[in-house]
Amino acid sequence: REAKAWDARFEEARTRDGHRVEVAANLGNTAHAADAVERGAEGIGLLRTEFLFMAHAQAPDLDTQIDEYREALDALDGRPLVARTLDVGGDKPLPYWPVPREDNPFLGLRGIRLALTRPEVLETQLRALLMAAAPAAGPGLEQQGKPLRIMLPMVKDLAEFRAAKAIFDRLLAEIPEAERASDVQLGVMIEVPSAALLAPSLAAEVDFFSVGTNDLTQYTLAIDRGHPELSAQADGLHPAVLRLIEMTVAAAHAHGKWVGVCGELASDAVAVPVLVGLGVDELSVSARQVPLVKARLREFDLAEARGQAELALAQATSEAVRDALEVR
Ligand code: PEP
Ligand code: MG
Repeated sequence: REAKAWDARFEEARTRDGHRVEVAANLGNTAHAADAVERGAEGIGLLRTEFLFMAHAQAPDLDTQIDEYREALDALDGRPLVARTLDVGGDKPLPYWPVPREDNPFLGLRGIRLALTRPEVLETQLRALLMAAAPAAGPGLEQQGKPLRIMLPMVKDLAEFRAAKAIFDRLLAEIPEAERASDVQLGVMIEVPSAALLAPSLAAEVDFFSVGTNDLTQYTLAIDRGHPELSAQADGLHPAVLRLIEMTVAAAHAHGKWVGVCGELASDAVAVPVLVGLGVDELSVSARQVPLVKARLREFDLAEARGQAELALAQATSEAVRDALEVR
C-alpha cells in the first residue's frame, strides 16, 4: 500500500469521483522544501517561520529573510508557498524578545497579538516575503509566477486582521511592482474559537483561511495540547471542533474563499474524509505524510465523505465520533 502511494505521489489527489483536494506540506525549515516537492507536495501549506527566528541570536534582518524565503520559493518552482508570519509566545518563547512573565502564556502575548506590539518586526517580515516572491524578470527570461500566500497566526477577530492588513497594504503600495510578489493573498489561521464563530465577518475581508486544528482543539476543549495526561483527550475529531470547522468552511465558500487545514487532524486517516465532507479545499501535512494522504483521498467519493461528516457532526463526544466512523 505504501509503495503504491509513493508511486502515485506526483499525481493530483482526487476522490474516486474526481473531486480535487490539494495536498501540501508543513515545514519548519526552508531547506526542506525540495524534499517536500520530491514527496509529492503541491506546495507548502504552512511554513512555520518562527523556526527561522529561533535559529538566530536576534531577529534576522531583511536580506537574511529574503534569502531564506527565496530558497523555499525556488524549490517550489511555481507551486504556492503559504508562509505564516512569526508565531511566538505561549509555548514558543524567543530569547531575544522577552515577554513579561505571564500566569497563562497560552492566553497571553502570542501570535499576532505579540507581533502587533512590534509592528516593525512584522513589517520587515512581510516586506521580505513580498520581495522574495518577486518575479524572476530579465531580458529573454520568462516571468515566473511565485504564488505567495501569507497567513497570520492566532487571529481572534477582524480588528487584528485589519491592523496587520494595514501594514501589508502600505507595503504593497510602497514596493515597486516589479520588485514584489504579484500573485499574493493574505489570510488568517482559524485556531481561536472566536475566529471560527466570527468567520462570516472575517471571510468578507481575508483571502483564505487555514484551520490550525492543534490550537483550535486546545482552545475549544480547554485542554493544553502538550499536557502529559490530558492531551490524548484533545482530539480534533471532537464534534465541537468539527462544528467550528463547518462554520468556517461555510463562511469562506459563501465569499468565494478557500479553506485549508494545517493541523495534525489533516493527516488523520479517519478525519480526512470528514474534512473533505465538510468542504475543506486543501490539506497540509508533514512532508512524510503527503503520499499517504493523497492515497487516502483516492479511497472514497464525495458523497461518502459528506455522509461521514454528517455522521460525525451528529455525535456528542469525540469517542462517539471515532466509534461512528468505525476506526479507533
Ligand atoms: C495549529 O495550531 O494547528 C497549527 C498548525 O499551528 P502550530 O501547530 O504551529 O501551533
Ligand atoms: Mg497554532
